[in-house]
Amino acid sequence: MPRDPFTAKVDGCSNDMCASDSYTGDSYTSDGKPHRGGRRTRSWRWSAGAAVILAASCSLAPGGEDLAAWVEHNVDDVVSIYKDFHRQPELSFHEQQTARRLAELLRVEADSVTEGVGGYGVVGVMKSGEGPTVMLRADMDGLPVVERTDLDYASQVLTKDKRGATVGVMHACGHDIHMANLIGVARWLNAHRSQWRGTVVMIFQPAEERGAGAEAMLNDGLFQRFPRPDYALALHVDPTLDAGRVACRSGFILANVDSVDITIHGRGGHGAHPYATIDPIVIAARFVLDLQTIVSREVKPIEPAVVTVGSIRAGTKHNIIPDTCHLQLTVRSYAEEVRRQLHESIQRKAEAAAAGAGAPPPDVRVSEGTPSLWNDPELVGRVAAVLRDVLGQDNVEQGEPSMGGEDFSRYGKAGVPIMMFRLGAISRQRLEDYRRQGQTVPSLHSALFYPDPRETLATGMTAMISATKDLLAAPDGTPEP
Ligand SMILES: [Zn+2]
Ligand SMILES: [Zn+2]
Repeated sequence: MPRDPFTAKVDGCSNDMCASDSYTGDSYTSDGKPHRGGRRTRSWRWSAGAAVILAASCSLAPGGEDLAAWVEHNVDDVVSIYKDFHRQPELSFHEQQTARRLAELLRVEADSVTEGVGGYGVVGVMKSGEGPTVMLRADMDGLPVVERTDLDYASQVLTKDKRGATVGVMHACGHDIHMANLIGVARWLNAHRSQWRGTVVMIFQPAEERGAGAEAMLNDGLFQRFPRPDYALALHVDPTLDAGRVACRSGFILANVDSVDITIHGRGGHGAHPYATIDPIVIAARFVLDLQTIVSREVKPIEPAVVTVGSIRAGTKHNIIPDTCHLQLTVRSYAEEVRRQLHESIQRKAEAAAAGAGAPPPDVRVSEGTPSLWNDPELVGRVAAVLRDVLGQDNVEQGEPSMGGEDFSRYGKAGVPIMMFRLGAISRQRLEDYRRQGQTVPSLHSALFYPDPRETLATGMTAMISATKDLLAAPDGTPEP
């Protein structure tokens, strides 16, 4: 994610539409069996890198145990889970081993665990009496990035893309943190069922980076086969925010993200005889400039909108005028009417540019991607108050909206009040070091991005547990057994 508190964060997600290619990378082996019998103890092994992790009993004290003490007691185990996920990233639509491992971990805590929801999605349900239903979501996929950190748990995973080229795979967007964090939250919820009432639906969602996983889970009956949530919460790591802090914001925080493919048809010929051709490159050049007037002259100035031409491809050689020119645009907005306006304007300008040159009508194809993410103000107000209480007033910032995208928005579009907040991921010391050295903090999707997991997960678990507990408290605020 981008450089300012909200902008950098989720930006890469969904927008970049990372090429997902046939996955042939490493796989983990899982030779440990979760201990299913008890709710309060567990032991498991995961042999990625021969690491053997013994999780401690997670609730040693009675129900009134202090959350901070519990987090401190459990965070190192959760960091180990995080590192295992970090070592073994999988690309969008290929999260098979990640899903298997998540299901193993979740079965220790949840009443039911269902795999294969919308691809490799995993859903765990946990109940404690009657009350509201809260959905907690973590995303699962990594990115086609060769990791360049020096971490001893850095990903070494390589895979082949569809052209047969070798590409690295990396959890460069922090989804490994999101997964480990939610497993930690599940542990607390299971160990402290007397402290909340209602139902928790924990979903691990595949293919966020392709903007497709949430839709796939919804189409696979997420809200029909499992309890329909009254609220849904998610977090995303933020490398511009120091670990220990979070950022919240009501209303729109992330954009409608659409892709537009345009083919301008001309008539090719010799570069020495342009009069005998219709040059699609010149049409494209005029069109690209004309596009700049959509946001500046047609959209209301108070409505956020972006039209970016990310790719123009045409031609093979200096002296040949090609037949066609292909353009790829990313188009972003918040409001649905602005989204429609942008699409119509692009269509009109493309047709006008072609007509002006006597060219045939262009092909304009709009692929609607991720819808904009609107944080429910009432839910944000309630959760932010809880976070300020538990993390400290100064550690809860007002987040800034961004034109990035995130498919968590789809659960909101499906009628559920949602809230996504930012989780600081880099220690204050490290952020100061970057600033002192005049360096930019590696953004999300960077080969150099890495969170400081202990501080990040301690804060993430504290925040998510506290928010969930509050939403599932008795109406008078007193949790009932
Ligand atoms: Zn991302
Ligand atoms: Zn992400």
